[in-house]
Amino acid sequence: MPSALYYRLLEEAGPCCGYCRTCALIIGQPLTIEHIIAIAKGGTSDILNLWLSCRRCNQFKGTQIEAVDPESGIVTPLFNPRTQPWREHFAWSANAAQIIGLSPCGRATVVALRMNNDDIVSARTLWVSVGWHPPQD
Ligand SMILES: [Zn+2]
Repeated sequence: MPSALYYRLLEEAGPCCGYCRTCALIIGQPLTIEHIIAIAKGGTSDILNLWLSCRRCNQFKGTQIEAVDPESGIVTPLFNPRTQPWREHFAWSANAAQIIGLSPCGRATVVALRMNNDDIVSARTLWVSVGWHPPQD
């Protein structure tokens, strides 16, 4: 049973992953409570350092807090879903199966969290075909 903290975050974050926007309803499992700055990198469990993400993004992110922007080669902080607007850093491809990084931070996060690996791109393609994707927010 999800905790009171989960429901508090759900109110702020909404029902979709803060990184890849995958919605909990589609994947049939609750989102996870994600430390934006990993504990191992000095982050805390204060609510200001927490957000909701899908298990894939949480797992691939691990303790990373920065990654290389593939366009510039510069190490960049990862996207912060609590403080940064998603649409300033990401967009959907024309067929909505892939996430396009719009900024150094967006591009670095797409790579670090493997937001376009084969498994999720196949799933998104299926979701698009039945009208469940992309999310409208
Ligand atoms: Zn995700």
